[in-house]
Amino acid sequence: MEYSIEVAKGHVISAGKILTENGLAARTWGNISARISDEKFVITPSGLAYENLTTKQIVEVSVADCSYDGNIKPSSEKGIHADIYRLRPKVNFIIHTHQMMASVLSIGGKDIEVRSDEYKKILEGVVPCAAYGISSTRKLRRKVAEALCNYPECKALLMKHHGTVCMGNNLENSFEIALTLEKMAKEIYEEACGGNKKQMVHITDYGRSSRKGNAFILECGGKTSEYVIDGLSDGAPEAAVLHAEIYKSGSAACIIHTIDDEIVEVSGASRILRPLLDDLAQIVGINIKTVKNARLNPKAVARELKNKNAVMMENEGALCTGTTEGDAKAAVIILRKGCAADLYAAALNKTDCLSIADAYIQRIIYITKYSKIKE
Ligand SMILES: [Zn+2]
Repeated sequence: MEYSIEVAKGHVISAGKILTENGLAARTWGNISARISDEKFVITPSGLAYENLTTKQIVEVSVADCSYDGNIKPSSEKGIHADIYRLRPKVNFIIHTHQMMASVLSIGGKDIEVRSDEYKKILEGVVPCAAYGISSTRKLRRKVAEALCNYPECKALLMKHHGTVCMGNNLENSFEIALTLEKMAKEIYEEACGGNKKQMVHITDYGRSSRKGNAFILECGGKTSEYVIDGLSDGAPEAAVLHAEIYKSGSAACIIHTIDDEIVEVSGASRILRPLLDDLAQIVGINIKTVKNARLNPKAVARELKNKNAVMMENEGALCTGTTEGDAKAAVIILRKGCAADLYAAALNKTDCLSIADAYIQRIIYITKYSKIKE
């Protein structure tokens, strides 16, 4: 049954919080909607963070032509939601996620056969993959509608190089779909990539730091120390030298060393990280490179971080940066997903990635849009 307008708006707001808390949408806020009648649904607004949404910011939109009243703009993907409500009378709640494992599977561009009866109860027989289109474009809307028409029973679909759409008959059902899809996607990923796990060796801790004017506070090896960026003593630890060099040459205000498994594995492969997922291009950057002997080459590390928010260090994971701690943490999450996509692509042996032009456009749009949101 569809929701009353007040309940629908409340559910959309709670769903936004659940999505961010579970890491199903990191930094690039997707979109969430609920049906209120055959003719109308309510949806998250365009370009506002999920954390602080109020019911006044949830927009009522027409299924027939996506028209809306008021001066708050609905999500730019409202067309996809409208198509789903029109084509699927039983769907009452839609969440668009960037969940890690399902997004990684999307790079294969293939429809996924649902594997067990347990999963089929929630997901039906196939999770189709919509062909690639840049977010908010008519092309993407058309590709999603094609996938929906090809598989009229499907409960979730993948959007190539991007994420998922989960279509339930209520909020709980939509999350059940998202979580079941993630569980299945993880199994498929591990079967494809599990065989080539490297043995963990000891990795130097390069710590994490925050800039405070012309100094920075570095937490490393269990110790917290303050250093002046331009005034390091001769005996300063390698990590401090590395962080100082990055602060000298860029706009970072926070640096985090990450040794997540997928990132360490890719850092050992010494290949350039291609933009297989669009949020990697947007939030972290294009063609993330690996620096050999990072401790001996702090300048090379700092150079690779110009116009990018991550650099990999051979066999030692990566350094992620941001102008806030939140930005640097988001870069870590998105880099991890990008590295998993890279490992999956290597396992499949053949996958295309975004074109460099596409990737640059996405990066520029994100930086412009996000800096506006932060203001
Ligand atoms: Zn999205």
